[in-house]
Amino acid sequence: MKYTIIDRGDALSKSLVQQFHSLAAERGFIHNNEQPEIVISIGGDGTLLQAFHNYVDCIADVAFVGIHTGHLGFYADWKADELEELVRLMAEETPIMVRYPLAQIEVETSTETLHYLSLNEFSLKGVDGTLVAQINVNDELFEMFRGDGIVISTPTGSTAYNKSLGGAIVHPSIESIQIAEIASINNRVFRTLGSSVLLPKHHHCDIISKKDQRIQLSIDHVNIMHSDIKSIRCSVASRKVSFPRYRPFPFWNRVRDAFLDYDVRD
Ligand code: NAP
Ligand code: MN
Repeated sequence: MKYTIIDRGDALSKSLVQQFHSLAAERGFIHNNEQPEIVISIGGDGTLLQAFHNYVDCIADVAFVGIHTGHLGFYADWKADELEELVRLMAEETPIMVRYPLAQIEVETSTETLHYLSLNEFSLKGVDGTLVAQINVNDELFEMFRGDGIVISTPTGSTAYNKSLGGAIVHPSIESIQIAEIASINNRVFRTLGSSVLLPKHHHCDIISKKDQRIQLSIDHVNIMHSDIKSIRCSVASRKVSFPRYRPFPFWNRVRDAFLDYDVRD
């Protein structure tokens, strides 16, 4: 088994990296940064986003395992004291591969078309103030947006930025993207739906921004400033991201453990 590790950079994560290497060596795993089969992320969900983007070009050939060194994460679900058990399962068991949908965008500028994939979401914001954009769904005018921004999230990203915007939490078996608004302005000229919308696979939306606007485009944790975006086409990507499951951890249990944390015995 060829593996690589990406860590958050703090002392605990760094010490776990060393521990993992020695446990992995005992099992005959091969450390390979160029063509890993398994990418281990040690840190938080943010660390896993970085790991994802480091290997996004070979996403079909890698699978991700997240170990958290802070609070329970949505992508990072192994605890620091479970490292030995994890390496044992990696060596001895054949995991169930769960595959989560990704979002894709094609950004049309005056000179080129840029392609991006995201694990959590894309967001668009106006750099100099209000974002002004026309939103088409399946090539027909849907709404005229004026406001702080728009967030297009994946099902697994629905618990992140999207949730803060009042978007729905979407089970990752529902292949979809969710469009959520950030503080839309509603008047007679600009009117938006207000609630967030789920688009299924094979539907698309185009965000056609007003000319010469400076736009901050975020792809998960990465922010890029653009000044010549003409339009952005958003859809469910044909590629998916893989996570080996060595033990069950249902999505709704993650949601409950992360956000509700009830003592179920009461
Ligand atoms: P960050 O500022 O550390 O992330 C914000 C929080 O989101 C962290 O607690 C992070 O967990 C958590 N998170 C990341 N992905 C998640 C997911 N799929 N489900 C639930 N929580 C999740 O920045 P970052 O670590 O680089 O993460 C970037 C993400 O931050 C973006 O993709 C976006 O979703 C989110 N974000 C949220 C807001 C907001 O809610 N207002 C604004 C901007 C960005 P860890 O601490 O484990 O990393
Ligand atoms: Mn973070």
